[in-house]
Amino acid sequence: MSTRVEKYSNTIKPETAANVSNASQAKTAQRVTALHAFYDDPDQMQRWASKVKGYVLDHLAELLIQFETNCIKNGIVVHWAEDAKEANDVILGLCKQGAGTTIVKAKSMATEEIHLNKHLEQNGFQPIETDLGEFVVQIDDDVPTHIVTPIIHKNRGEISKSFLRENLGPETTVPEELAAQARAHLRSKFRGAKIGISGVNFGIADTGRIVLVENEGNSRLSTTAVDLHIAVMGIEKLLPTEQDLATFLPLLAGSATGQRITTYTHFITGPKQVDQTDGPSEVHIVLLDNGRSKIMAGDYRDILKCIRCGACLNVCPVYRQVGGHGYAHVYSGPLGAVLAPGLEGVKAYGDLAKASSLCGACEEVCPVKIPIPRMLLQLRDETFRAGANTDHIPWRVFAMGATKPFIWKSGLMMVPMAPLVPHPLAAAWKSSRDLPKNEQASFRKWWSKKVGA
Ligand code: SF4
Repeated sequence: MSTRVEKYSNTIKPETAANVSNASQAKTAQRVTALHAFYDDPDQMQRWASKVKGYVLDHLAELLIQFETNCIKNGIVVHWAEDAKEANDVILGLCKQGAGTTIVKAKSMATEEIHLNKHLEQNGFQPIETDLGEFVVQIDDDVPTHIVTPIIHKNRGEISKSFLRENLGPETTVPEELAAQARAHLRSKFRGAKIGISGVNFGIADTGRIVLVENEGNSRLSTTAVDLHIAVMGIEKLLPTEQDLATFLPLLAGSATGQRITTYTHFITGPKQVDQTDGPSEVHIVLLDNGRSKIMAGDYRDILKCIRCGACLNVCPVYRQVGGHGYAHVYSGPLGAVLAPGLEGVKAYGDLAKASSLCGACEEVCPVKIPIPRMLLQLRDETFRAGANTDHIPWRVFAMGATKPFIWKSGLMMVPMAPLVPHPLAAAWKSSRDLPKNEQASFRKWWSKKVGA
């Protein structure tokens, strides 16, 4: 297993692991029900979606230009950011031109990726996460542990304790009461904020519209009740036409949250027009590269088909045991194990490729059919070749013994003595397992006798 994920798995509290495991199993079951309710053949729809996203990657440069041109026609100001620093600087510059220092933020993994909140805070702004899960993450000074459900690792009791600490209301485990406490607190922030920041679920090339999906209504308030709306979009989040949404909206909702469609779908065309009373006066979009062009040029480009549904996390037996914190990156689970080293290099994150049993479940549930297991195998090899594999010495010793019959046979003769060798982890290992009984005679001896060799 990945060194960092393995280390984390030894420290995770049993109740946290149980929260992650229960929630991710429930989400996997909901996903199956939702997709089969919507499609006669979900697999066929997934293959089609994969082809559409393949087309996007094959024509990314021209689709981006088309998207930019149409955004500008709609009155949206387009910015290009090569890396996190450039994106953060552009956004900070825009915020400085806006009014006030309070910023309401809708859920956005792209802004998590560039650590935007920290940058804004260091420069005197107060970004306030308004998605319920992200809000809990923020007040707990935590990081999201899942790309769709950021607090999958917490239960209602823990959330209530956080709310009590922040004086949001009395202790309760009733979901509606917890939601009401957060709502009352966030409403006053929405009323005061003039700047809103969001991510983008889909950018539509042929219309220049930004599409956002959500269930809480906070994205709508963050993007329409403010004077200045800034959207941050990874350059791969494009769809060629709005007709493609007929495939992607139910596929994303079904795969992510087990819904047939999300409660809200927002189509943002631009700032408010002269005859309109609602909406922001300015809409900006920051198109973020931050390593995506590098991934595009390599063997892992298909990971850029990802629509951030989280289904591969929910189904992954490793993720279910450790949750997202173990991956030490904003993108966790099977997606993160490919995307994190793709964005930041195998030396930094290549070990995540080992946090997988290679069972293939991630590829099976992926709505755009990304061949994650194949990529993980290749990443393991690449990480080893880059000299970033930290546990190769024991495997080298094993390979040496396993390929030399004399050493192998001598080793086998010593196996019965293995339980007598002191090992610091032996007690922990044996606490839940029994060593197999020593059969006295080896298979080799038995076979030699049988064939008379
Ligand atoms: S890799 Fe596939 S299953 Fe995983 S989050 Fe992305 S789209 Fe969803």
